Amino acid sequence: MTDRVLSIQGLTKHFGGILALNGLSFGVGREGIYSIIGPNGAGKTTLFNCISGVLRPDGGKILFQGEDITGLKGHEIVELGIARTFQNIRLFSNMTVLENVLVGMHSRLRSNFWQTISRSHYQRLEEKSALKRAYQLLDYVGLKGLEDKLATSLPYGLQRRLELARALASSPKLLLLDEPTAGMLPSESKEIAELLKRIQWEFGISILLIEHDMKVVMDVSSKIIVLDLGEKIAEGSPDEIRSDERVIQAYLGGKGKHPL
Ligand code: ATP
Repeated sequence: MTDRVLSIQGLTKHFGGILALNGLSFGVGREGIYSIIGPNGAGKTTLFNCISGVLRPDGGKILFQGEDITGLKGHEIVELGIARTFQNIRLFSNMTVLENVLVGMHSRLRSNFWQTISRSHYQRLEEKSALKRAYQLLDYVGLKGLEDKLATSLPYGLQRRLELARALASSPKLLLLDEPTAGMLPSESKEIAELLKRIQWEFGISILLIEHDMKVVMDVSSKIIVLDLGEKIAEGSPDEIRSDERVIQAYLGGKGKHPL
């Protein structure tokens, strides 16, 4: 079995005349937190959209656990074991906190959780264990006691935690997180960074992170991949990236304060 959970090979995506991804290649190992950074328009979100099946790449391949998943549909990719959160929170606004997590679990349930009529013994057992796990996940991310609240009634930072619980509910092997600390106070970002490290370690999964908060990136990353204009311009440990000339140039044109 390959030691990479994800392998991006020569990925290309155009939008009209804009080359958002230009032959991008890198790998994500089994376990660890990998961060994707780069200036605005570097291609970070396009990359996530290609991996998660929102966009079909124009060229190149995406391998997940050695299997070619290029061009598969979003739900097929979730079922294979890739879960995602979004830059702009996308919770089901008319559902409770608990229901949002149960929906996230749906791809793993063999029977339809919402079929309450003429339920088999197996279905009842499955529902019971799904509920138990949903409560456990909510406790894990710090939302114990809020299960019956409407998801959108939670403060912003807690909605981000709920998104994490919902993503974990599908039992992923790889978690794609698009700016999990966006809009947070520094103290909240620090707590999320701690939570991400715990999730990676305790669930034994890989995390691929897009993040603009460089304190968080430097704190959590096993490896950092730097994009600029759809290409990888650097890859390495936080210390290696901090001193990389091309990274400094890409962010600041060589002027001003170092971003890292
Ligand atoms: P940011 O940090 O600002 O979110 P990003 O690194 O995520 O930026 P992308 O959003 O992937 O960058 O955009 C890469 C390039 O592709 C940009 O030039 C952007 O304008 C362009 N682009 C992205 N999505 C589309 C689209 N749907 N239609 C046209 N152009 C797009």
